Amino acid sequence: MSRFFSGKFSSLVPYTPGEQPKDRQFIKLNTNESPFPPSEKAREAAAEAAEQLQLYPDPECRRLTEAVANMLGVRPDEVLLTNGSDEILNFAFMAYCDSTHPAVFPDITYGFYPVFAKINTVPYEEIPLREDFTIGVRDYLSLDKTIFIANPNAPTGITLSRADIEKILKSNPDTVVVVDEAYVDFGGESCVPLIRKYDNLLVTQTFSKSRSMAGARLGFGVGNRALIQDLNTIKYSTNPYNINAMTMAAGLGTLSDPDYTAANCRTVIENREYTTRALENLGFTLTDSRTNFVFATHPAFPGDSLYKKLRARGILIRHFTHPKIADYNRITIGSRAEMEVLVKTITELMEERK
Ligand code: PMP
Repeated sequence: MSRFFSGKFSSLVPYTPGEQPKDRQFIKLNTNESPFPPSEKAREAAAEAAEQLQLYPDPECRRLTEAVANMLGVRPDEVLLTNGSDEILNFAFMAYCDSTHPAVFPDITYGFYPVFAKINTVPYEEIPLREDFTIGVRDYLSLDKTIFIANPNAPTGITLSRADIEKILKSNPDTVVVVDEAYVDFGGESCVPLIRKYDNLLVTQTFSKSRSMAGARLGFGVGNRALIQDLNTIKYSTNPYNINAMTMAAGLGTLSDPDYTAANCRTVIENREYTTRALENLGFTLTDSRTNFVFATHPAFPGDSLYKKLRARGILIRHFTHPKIADYNRITIGSRAEMEVLVKTITELMEERK
């Protein structure tokens, strides 16, 4: 830290992204990326947009906003595109949290939430998940605080029904409820259809997972017009050109190819079912994941030891040190071939132990 760094950030512990090693070729099952390339239409559109990079991109992101609204069956003024969904989540912390509206979220959830709270000097409370890692809906009723729920949750993969989220929305009418649907396309139930009914609902989604665009950084928020206006105020006060021209074009290309996205989601779900069954046969216990990852534990392989052993054999998975989940690992669903190598390698590790 330099002697110039503002005291307000001196104790900030930044978010740690999953490792992106460059030293050797790994089977990467650690950051919930898609195993499939982006749609060819996205790649072509991005290449074409590169020819005009001397120009600023459209700050209103009009065509892409219309295309996203069209996909969701909402109006363009109910959508705001951002630089990954991380940006809209940060905007929501900026817009809807302060000392009179503290943030609240589960103790085991997306690790960026506490960091967003801290950088925005927002007080926050973490509500413990239940023993079985589910979110206790009753714990979120009538809190009168700004609620952040990843649905499906990460890294547990477990989903809440729309009806359960609706109970939370109804009982907190005077505060915003943010539903982070980064993984919804792999089997969750979206709350987008509720945005007109609840003016306190903000849903966030991303192009990073189901649409294979993590490297392009594209996400969005969907909510009541007034909420989107607030978030635009934050956007135009921080970074009006938050979506670069190539990403904007790639997003449009992807949305023009919905069959490709749908087919990839189906394959990920099939590979998830294959991996779940194979790991269960090897003695693992898994949560009921509706995402592009599984969350697994084995009585003979503590989370950290399995992580290290697989790493030494060229397979990266994600281990978290939080004591409540230290026995678990989060494993991204890759291609079928990658998942077969994972299962084979774990089988060999188990045989070595005998
Ligand atoms: N929410 C959750 C629950 C996530 O796991 C992630 C990805 N790590 C994000 C949001 C942010 O994703 P992105 O910024 O790539 O859209």
